Amino acid sequence: MRFTVLGSGSTGNSVLICTEKTKVLVDVGLSAKETLRRLALVGVHFSELDAILVTHEHSDHAGGLRVLLNTVTCPVFLSGATREAYVREKSNKTNNEPQKRSEAIKNRRVEIESSRDFRIGDIDFEPFSVPHDAVDNFGFVARSAGVKLATVLDFGCFTTLIKEKLRGCDGIVIESNHNCDMLKTCPIYSWDLKQRILSRTGHISNEDLADWLTNEFDGAARQIVLAHLSQRANEPHLARLTAQTALHLRSPLFKTETQVTISYHGAPTDWIGF
Ligand SMILES: [Zn+2]
Ligand SMILES: [Zn+2]
Repeated sequence: MRFTVLGSGSTGNSVLICTEKTKVLVDVGLSAKETLRRLALVGVHFSELDAILVTHEHSDHAGGLRVLLNTVTCPVFLSGATREAYVREKSNKTNNEPQKRSEAIKNRRVEIESSRDFRIGDIDFEPFSVPHDAVDNFGFVARSAGVKLATVLDFGCFTTLIKEKLRGCDGIVIESNHNCDMLKTCPIYSWDLKQRILSRTGHISNEDLADWLTNEFDGAARQIVLAHLSQRANEPHLARLTAQTALHLRSPLFKTETQVTISYHGAPTDWIGF
């Protein structure tokens, strides 16, 4: 199995997970045009996609979906609650976006549940609910040929379930949204938005992630990709330094060779393979 984060941040998230036989695009938060461009950049033609998986309705995860479906013909896996919310998301009196969205996914949708395992090609997906202010957001573990990759973005706190699912993974793509001080002093965000981000259904900070890395991480993952970095309340080098320092603070009994990679909003990461 191999994967690349095509782009990540509040401007759009998309992850591509592939085996020899199966290619799954997780979330379409970039514009359709940009998604197609980034697929080409990593050497994948859109016609090769076997499925699109949508984790939740927020526009930085599903905003490019409708237009992308004009070009890409594969099915879209999403939950019933997320479908409803996705269709309503851009609703206002002057547009007919809900109708367009409804039409676009009508015959393409495969309904999944956010806590029931499903399979796409030769990849087994094990989704699990995460606390976030979307109707039905989930993280997941993807398994194929003995390799285990976890992806968990957009969650406000580490629940027991999340900690459990992250054990024994070979690779983890995980949110490291903001530095708490940078967020609190950010002059652009309103107080309300800061409260939303900091809440237990908001987004994970560098410090939250560091706490998990030091005290809970089992050291199994050889690769951890930090994702969904805020462009206003985080710095890539700071996110990386915080995570790496946390890994060094782990008990010396649990030696780890984990490599930390940053994903960016503007360009795909290198392919990471197992
Ligand atoms: Zn997001
Ligand atoms: Zn979200």
